[in-house]
Amino acid sequence: MTLKAVKTRIYPDSQQQTKIIANFGYCRFVWNQLLDMQIQRHDNGGRYVNEFGMNYLIKSLKQEFTFLKAAESTSLLHVSRDLHHAYQKLFKEHRGFPKFKSRKFPKQSYQCNSVNHNIQVTNACCLKLPKLGKVRFKCGQAVSGKIKNVTIRLSATGKFYAVLLVDTDTQELPKTNNTVGIDMGVADLMITSDGIKYPTIRFDKILSKKKHYWEKRLARRRLQAQREIAWDQHNKAPEPRELSDFNNYLKAKRMVAKYNEKIANQRNNYLHNLSKQLVEQYDLIKIEDLKTKNLLHKHKLARAIANQSWRKLRSQLEYKCAWYGKQLVNVNPRKTSQICSNCGFDDGKHTLDVREWTCPKCGINHDRDINAAKNILSA
Ligand SMILES: [Zn+2]
Repeated sequence: MTLKAVKTRIYPDSQQQTKIIANFGYCRFVWNQLLDMQIQRHDNGGRYVNEFGMNYLIKSLKQEFTFLKAAESTSLLHVSRDLHHAYQKLFKEHRGFPKFKSRKFPKQSYQCNSVNHNIQVTNACCLKLPKLGKVRFKCGQAVSGKIKNVTIRLSATGKFYAVLLVDTDTQELPKTNNTVGIDMGVADLMITSDGIKYPTIRFDKILSKKKHYWEKRLARRRLQAQREIAWDQHNKAPEPRELSDFNNYLKAKRMVAKYNEKIANQRNNYLHNLSKQLVEQYDLIKIEDLKTKNLLHKHKLARAIANQSWRKLRSQLEYKCAWYGKQLVNVNPRKTSQICSNCGFDDGKHTLDVREWTCPKCGINHDRDINAAKNILSA
């Protein structure tokens, strides 16, 4: 059995939307209350309250703030779990301090557990969700297996999603007896030891004109709105406006978010395609450990995109290999670009501008990246 996350777009009616948005608010309220309590305790020299302690506190919050009784109860327990995880990251990995949550944050979500079959796919277009009842949904794949929990999300573009965590049986893919080594690059995202190069596609560039059009409008409209807000304050207006009261500003913000979402979706689809192809074609996939990867520092954005894509591709390969009965191996990339994959001769360090070289010992001409991929394969 394996856990799979299935993301589906949902179409709640206006009543259901109101309930969802209210529940975002309850979770945010509880998060902020718990966080405030932790901070105050800390300031008074008290100890950190763990997840169970926070769950207990939620009970008293419910008594003090009776509106919380309308909340989906397991979603509040997820809040203390999330906050606990945030604190664990702070303690163990020295990440940033947990932040208070704002109503204005463009993405909102809450998570609830499956209790007594309250999360169910009732037919091809209906999903039963806790506290909401039947919600229309659209999903590209069949949902099969036991549903463990659901995350309800509102995107920055105003679309609702349900992410179902499903315990499911996955069929292993047929064995091919093929092994591959993969080198990761910037211009070419992935180079295989079979000599195939998969380019980095700059989806951001493809949509940049349209996105830029709205970014310019967003900047101008924000400035205009801020001027009017300042005017309100200066004249002590009875009902001072906020940024969220300016509809044309909000529209521009939504449009920028829409293009960002499009770019992210296209990039994700591309990566999912690549990782799927790899697990279908190969039984053993050897991939370089990226921690020590030295990179061109001048192309900052290209590098950041490559970096993010590698991490995504790696995590996709990790879970897809586990699902489909394939194997993923990390290889130390040391010297992979200077050793001849044919005879093993060490030609010394090649600077990054050396795209191809000839081995002085066996005379073979190497493409730098393909040679590196072959070394990763034989490592
Ligand atoms: Zn050689």
